[in-house]
Amino acid sequence: MSADPRPGSVNPATGAPLDDVTWNAAADVAAVVERARAAQKGWAATPLAERARRVLDLGRRIAERRHEVVAILDDEMGRASADSLISEVATIVDYTKGVVSVGKAALAPEKVALSPITFPGKKAVIEQVPRGVIGIIEPWNYPLLQFHKSLFPALLAGNGVVLKPSEHTPRTAQWLHKQCEDLFPAGLVGIVIGGGEVGSALVEADIDGLVFTGSVRTGKKVAARAAERLIPFSVELGGKDAAIVLADCALERTVQGLVWASMHNAGQDCSAVERIYVEQAIADAFVDKFTAAVERLRTTPNEEVDVGPLQNAAQLRIVEAHVADAIAKGATVRCGGKATGAGYGFQPTVLDHCDMGMDVVVEETFGPVAAIIRVKDADEAIDRANASRFGLGGSVWTQDLAKGERLARQLEVGLAHVNTHKFAGVVPSIPWTGTKETGTGIAASRHAYHTFVRPRTIIVDKGKDPEPFWLPISGELLDMGHTLAEFQLGSFLRVFTLLGLLKKRVNRVRGK
Ligand code: NAD
Repeated sequence: MSADPRPGSVNPATGAPLDDVTWNAAADVAAVVERARAAQKGWAATPLAERARRVLDLGRRIAERRHEVVAILDDEMGRASADSLISEVATIVDYTKGVVSVGKAALAPEKVALSPITFPGKKAVIEQVPRGVIGIIEPWNYPLLQFHKSLFPALLAGNGVVLKPSEHTPRTAQWLHKQCEDLFPAGLVGIVIGGGEVGSALVEADIDGLVFTGSVRTGKKVAARAAERLIPFSVELGGKDAAIVLADCALERTVQGLVWASMHNAGQDCSAVERIYVEQAIADAFVDKFTAAVERLRTTPNEEVDVGPLQNAAQLRIVEAHVADAIAKGATVRCGGKATGAGYGFQPTVLDHCDMGMDVVVEETFGPVAAIIRVKDADEAIDRANASRFGLGGSVWTQDLAKGERLARQLEVGLAHVNTHKFAGVVPSIPWTGTKETGTGIAASRHAYHTFVRPRTIIVDKGKDPEPFWLPISGELLDMGHTLAEFQLGSFLRVFTLLGLLKKRVNRVRGK
């Protein structure tokens, strides 16, 4: 296939051209945001129960029309339909139910108790107010799923939304947008299609919150601009997940789990296992079995392909460069190591004897490549796993669950697993977040709502008396201040003095 056609214009497995998609100009973006803003006012005033019903309808509709969207995903990602269906679509109804359940709790007004000493006679409630219009910028690795984690809670919270899919996978998002248009008020969910210029125009547009998922390089730029504009943002960036394989692991299961975690979606997953730290005592046995399992994976483009192609030419070049760098620096290729020659396919690859000097251990590869690093024990594995600028997920594989949990807590990541990996990408109740250059974003769970709502507090004073703290300043105020401090320090004998002083002050403020 000739290198680098227009992004998103060919099937990455076959090179077959796809239907043309019209890109927006950067200048189009403001009008899309304005439409979403106009529709948002009415949507925010719609009762939460009704918003929840529509969100659930959207989930049901995606499930009902799954054949349509899976066909588009097949074209844009070039992977097996079964893979797209399971990864991005099949659990959508359950997911939206979870979003609604978590969201209703996160959005419920909260009555707060106020101190009768400093806030006598008052009641307070904290309400969650939708921000307005949320821009959602996503990458290409899961063209539908990536939108789920923010679109549903943002709408549930009463926001308008503008979707900005990757230029590599616009058709899936266009399909999603069409479903939203049918179910929500006109313009409430907008979409803009194009590359970095269009994304940048969305960051500059009149939005009230921003969710960005993508590379560290772009994420830092976007975060800086959002911070300058003082709009809340969530940036979820790269990953370089490590798995730690201990000598007492259940070997067969560990091999299968890590084949999946490193090779699924051709490794194009922010939480793909890219580094495997293996205790020396089990290293030969693990690497032999792992290699044999990876060699069995099928890459031929057909309905049962296990590992599809990279999504685009630039990603294939990154993977090729990382593997070449590792080989030049002494890694052993146990299997794979080359492009398949079909589309942007790359052979599932196992590299043994890798070390920190290699890009494949330090940089995000985002391809079907597992780097094996042999270590003497669990402590060395933890140290090396943490010596990364990324911190999304990690896992420990052992039959000693207590030890596994103890080690998992030492991983500097947002999501640490024992004997599994990549389980909680889009789970309504679990925060999807990381440390270091993985970014400050939090998707899913009640913790994600900061980007979608702002807290507004209403305080109502039911009292008839003026406040004893109000002006004028007087001698009793000084006495009252000291007595109040003593009372809080535990001098309960002061309570009667305090009550007397408070009464005196109220009369003073009244002018008596
Ligand atoms: P990318 O940063 O190149 O692009 C992401 C999105 O940003 C695209 O829609 C792109 O058009 C847009 N964009 C580009 N320049 C922009 C700008 N200046 N302003 C605003 N928007 C701009 O990333 P990618 O190559 O599409 O995605 C791969 C990366 O995404 C990997 O690093 C991967 O780890 C990361 N990722 C992270 C998570 C996570 O949850 N942490 C999930 C999936 C992918």
